[in-house]
Amino acid sequence: MGTWEGGCHCGNVRFRVSGDLAHVIECNCSICTKKGFLHLIVPPEQFTLLCGEEALSTYQFNTGTAKHIFCRHCGIHPFYIPRSDPDKIDINVRCLAGVDLAGVTTTAFDGRNWDDAILTANPRSA
Ligand SMILES: [Zn+2]
Repeated sequence: MGTWEGGCHCGNVRFRVSGDLAHVIECNCSICTKKGFLHLIVPPEQFTLLCGEEALSTYQFNTGTAKHIFCRHCGIHPFYIPRSDPDKIDINVRCLAGVDLAGVTTTAFDGRNWDDAILTANPRSA
């Protein structure tokens, strides 16, 4: 477990998160591939938005469950509400300060085949 601060590119949105970088997920779905999102999913009590709530905008598609939150000034998606765990916050590890990405091992999630992949990743959700 560790604690990091992170944010968007322009600096309007800042947050603090505690989590375990041993559990970083890389998803191959259409939007994660284009964003380069590296997922760290944490319960809301491990996440604090420090500033920038008024800068946040939300993009939704498909089932509308996921809330793809982004900074409307710089367009960066530093965190969002994931379809897999809508009661949690999904942090983009690329937006954390002081994390050496070369030292982060990721687990693949087959988001292109979401319905099958979620059962493999989390059989209890079946
Ligand atoms: Zn920004």
